[in-house]
Amino acid sequence: MSLKVYNTLTRKKEEFVPRDKGKVSMYVCGPTVYNYIHIGNARCYVAFDVIYRYLKYRGYDVVYVRNLTDVDDKIINRANKEGLSTKEIAEKYIEAFHEDTKNIGNESPQIEPRATEHINDMIKTIKCLIENGFAYEIDGDVFFEVQKFDNYGKLSGRTLEEMRAGERVDVDERKRYPMDFALWKSSKPGEPSWDSPWGKGRPGWHIECSVMSSKYLGMGFDIHGGGHDLIFPHHENEIAQAEASAGKAPFVKYWLHNGFVNISDEKMAKSLGNVILVREILKEYEPNVLRMFFLSTHYRSPISYSKGNLDSVAVALERIENTIQRIDYLLYKSEEIAGTSASEIEEFREIIEGVEEKFIDAMDDDFNTASALGVIFDFVKETNLFLEESQKNLSKKNRDLLRPARDKLVKLTGVLGIKLREKEIAGELPDELLDLAKNIVGQEFGEKDAALSALTGAREKAREERDWVKADLIRNKLASIGFALKDTPQGCQITFERK
Ligand code: AMP
Ligand code: ZN
Repeated sequence: MSLKVYNTLTRKKEEFVPRDKGKVSMYVCGPTVYNYIHIGNARCYVAFDVIYRYLKYRGYDVVYVRNLTDVDDKIINRANKEGLSTKEIAEKYIEAFHEDTKNIGNESPQIEPRATEHINDMIKTIKCLIENGFAYEIDGDVFFEVQKFDNYGKLSGRTLEEMRAGERVDVDERKRYPMDFALWKSSKPGEPSWDSPWGKGRPGWHIECSVMSSKYLGMGFDIHGGGHDLIFPHHENEIAQAEASAGKAPFVKYWLHNGFVNISDEKMAKSLGNVILVREILKEYEPNVLRMFFLSTHYRSPISYSKGNLDSVAVALERIENTIQRIDYLLYKSEEIAGTSASEIEEFREIIEGVEEKFIDAMDDDFNTASALGVIFDFVKETNLFLEESQKNLSKKNRDLLRPARDKLVKLTGVLGIKLREKEIAGELPDELLDLAKNIVGQEFGEKDAALSALTGAREKAREERDWVKADLIRNKLASIGFALKDTPQGCQITFERK
């Protein structure tokens, strides 16, 4: 199957054919840096982070650009409130944004252009729009004249009449048409400003994104993303500006928009005062949980936030991690006995071999992370069944399948940016194991994994004999060199973290 993406512009799922073979150019609207990001914003950045990772996994050479809006009314207001300069506010919240997105496990885009560093490019585009007859100046402000651009409304699917019906009352009387929007705003004293042919001022928000995206990615780039609320007017205006100034179309091939995070049936939004900050939620839940919570729903559908939903995700995530730990335990268990029947081994081998294709099928369907996670959980279930068998009858053939099964789990969750807690009992085990086994089991071991097996075996035996003192002693001694033992109905899970 080939990759299909839902394009907001055409309102259908289309086959994804990039502009340049083997390469993908992607732009996502970044934050206006005047506040900490909330879970709704995080969903947007996680959704596109996964799209970015998946495209790379599919072999594309991806250029990912995400801007920083570091000049805006909101930043000016915030600066006045906090008694800082607009530059200081922007720096503070850019740093916080980087921290938060890193903490939720996102990769950084390759290019992160700042609006304030591209003012000249914006002025050039605005001049060109005036020359081409798409924009006009009044008292130091410049507006885009929407009626001059034939395709205005093609992204949001609204006609000018419909837009007018939704317009607010405080329309600037100076505009030729109520829907005309600002490309350049004259500045008031004390506000950040730049010199321009129209006097001192600053760019409008929409022109930032169309100028910076096309500067780094060229016209006709592949993917432009953002939250659903950006379709109109932000992205509609970006198209008008870019296509009118370049004199050609399209500005963007595929428009992708994520759905909202809702809380108590309302959109989570700063303006509604119902936001939960990323840095707050990460005090209670690990990043993987938040990530998996987002990915459990298709990126275009709304998600309902609640602690209960996050708790269920945490339990599901633990299932994957437990499976990894069980595999690790068996991988380092020495004894090999009779073995599972050949048909079960063959069946599991096929499951391992087939899982990646199923994962790809799910993700190729407009990045359907919800069904991709379904594929992973089915695989965890099958692996657990096989582990149960292997726990009873560990043969070399069983063991040979454990590593590939583990690798698939780590790989596929990794494509989604879920970094499993990897306390793998692999590589270098601590030397102290040999002495410990000698003291407790009374036998010399040449191999450290054999010593570990002997120790856990001795503990199991002590438990069977209800010799709790000895069982606890072994557990504590192992803990002192970095091993954690957890007794579960499926047997003892062992994890190792170097001390
Ligand atoms: P803002 O800071 O409001 O410009 O938002 C930054 C990004 O987060 C934009 O792409 C928004 O569309 C997106 N966004 C804002 N609120 C939500 C929400 N509740 N759910 C999903 N995405 C959101
Ligand atoms: Zn934007």
